[in-house]
Amino acid sequence: MSKKKSKASRNLIDRDLKVVWHPCTQMKDHEKIPLIPIKEGKGVWLKDYDGNQYIDAISSWWVNIFGHSNPYINKQIIKQLGNLEHVLLAGFTHEPAVNLAERLIKLSPQKIKKCFFTDNGSSAVDAAMKMSYHYWKNKGFKKKSKFISLSNSYHGETLGSLSVSNIDLYKKTYEELMIDTIIVESPDCYLKDENHTDKEHTEIMFDKMLKVIEKKHKEVCAVIVEPLVQCAGYMRMYHPIYLKLLREACNKYHIHLIADEIAVGFGRTGTMFAYEQSKITPDIICLSKGITGGYMTLSTILTTNDIYNAFYDEYTKLNAFLHSHSYTANPIACSAANATLDIFEKEKTILKNKELSNYITKSLKNIVNHNHVGDVRQHGMIVAIEMVKDKLNKKPYSWKERRGIKAYEYGLKNNVLIRPLGNVIYFMPPYVIKKKEIDKVITTIEGAIDIATK
Ligand SMILES: *Cc1c(COP(=O)(O)O)cnc(C)c1O
Repeated sequence: MSKKKSKASRNLIDRDLKVVWHPCTQMKDHEKIPLIPIKEGKGVWLKDYDGNQYIDAISSWWVNIFGHSNPYINKQIIKQLGNLEHVLLAGFTHEPAVNLAERLIKLSPQKIKKCFFTDNGSSAVDAAMKMSYHYWKNKGFKKKSKFISLSNSYHGETLGSLSVSNIDLYKKTYEELMIDTIIVESPDCYLKDENHTDKEHTEIMFDKMLKVIEKKHKEVCAVIVEPLVQCAGYMRMYHPIYLKLLREACNKYHIHLIADEIAVGFGRTGTMFAYEQSKITPDIICLSKGITGGYMTLSTILTTNDIYNAFYDEYTKLNAFLHSHSYTANPIACSAANATLDIFEKEKTILKNKELSNYITKSLKNIVNHNHVGDVRQHGMIVAIEMVKDKLNKKPYSWKERRGIKAYEYGLKNNVLIRPLGNVIYFMPPYVIKKKEIDKVITTIEGAIDIATK
């Protein structure tokens, strides 16, 4: 990284800090850690105003799939802009939305037949919660009003989605504002007993879920989970058997299963959607992030005719789902999403990613053996590395030491954007990353671990 910042860069930083309040940031940190104005992006590379380039190894918060300024997605958006920028979706419709709904349903299990558009990940989760609750009400189940979710889960920041989340850092301050949620211990395999396989551990942990369901099912609308990887929850992972067992229990006890695929959807875990690896059909599927290839905000809820039909009635019965967002199914966002699905089809991305993820697995060897690495885990195109104080008993570093930030700064100095979650460095790149660029990221992560664990 060049020592001096250019005038253009300094100017933007000064103006920014006067007026912009950044997300998920203690703004005082920027007294020491400089903001980085980005001028342009191309493929996996982000360019600043000072001639530096950074590999976007975290897909700009997990949204980017086919690179920045992707020529094909650009073209499709520009085409759509010439026709229609937006129209309300109530009483009206448009081709990009219909095409997208058809295509998403086609990619889903047989029983998934309807697509409800929302705005962003958190709003999709909120709408899914309302939909599930309202379904049971319409069906005459008056007592069902609670949700079950997993410890260490993350489902968003709005009051509803935060209520079913369970990461203290984001939630604890707002505890009094939260909807009362039943939290069940996560099957997180990082915490497993050495003698157990991931599958055994996951099965054992499911017993805790089953006990809660058996006891509370009469008051429960739905269980909401992040299939296979708890992404914001430090990229903790579990075995697909969990969802299979959960599906069986939800069927038996009349509870919806909501799959929050917002982070893991669109190929991240190796299959198009993570729930596919458990061969289940969720009742409600939440999609966002990668859906537009990382271009625009858009989210959808996919669901069954069984749920849809519970709302289908004479207007005066007031059973309709009267939920909406101003920008529901924005045509430009939908055209970006359709372009993203085009690329998945044309380039056989899921197949290609198998080779990439195998390549990544092989290049992790040095990291696995590092003295201060307690765990290296991977699900497809998601890799997470747990930095620990003591490798033998996985004793963690205190969060107050903020070792992740040292790794972040080292990454930037070496032209790689990583943004650790606490003591966990993760790698979740756009799928257009080349092997040479993977090598660069891995070498940089190795250096970052050395620096951060000193
Ligand atoms: C990011 C995320 C959300 C929230 O999405 P936003 O678009 O940031 O509101 C919800 N669930 C999961 C699993 C996520 O990773």
